[in-house]
Amino acid sequence: MEIVDTREGYNFKIFGNKTFAVVAGNDTVAFCPFCYSQINFSDDRCPCCNKNIPELIYYHGDDDTWIASGNE
Ligand SMILES: [Zn+2]
Repeated sequence: MEIVDTREGYNFKIFGNKTFAVVAGNDTVAFCPFCYSQINFSDDRCPCCNKNIPELIYYHGDDDTWIASGNE
């Protein structure tokens, strides 16, 4: 599990068993949820920051953070 930073204008969205960042209103282009580089939906790992694409990203309200899981 890892904390991910949100970025204004982007949402997190599940595609199959992976969760990517997408621009709000346009989910045809995938971005890495960690470094926000443009990547491919087929990527299992971001070629820029080398992190695995998580299965899920969820909001943790207790400390107001977003947590990526399933990317170990
Ligand atoms: Zn990345």
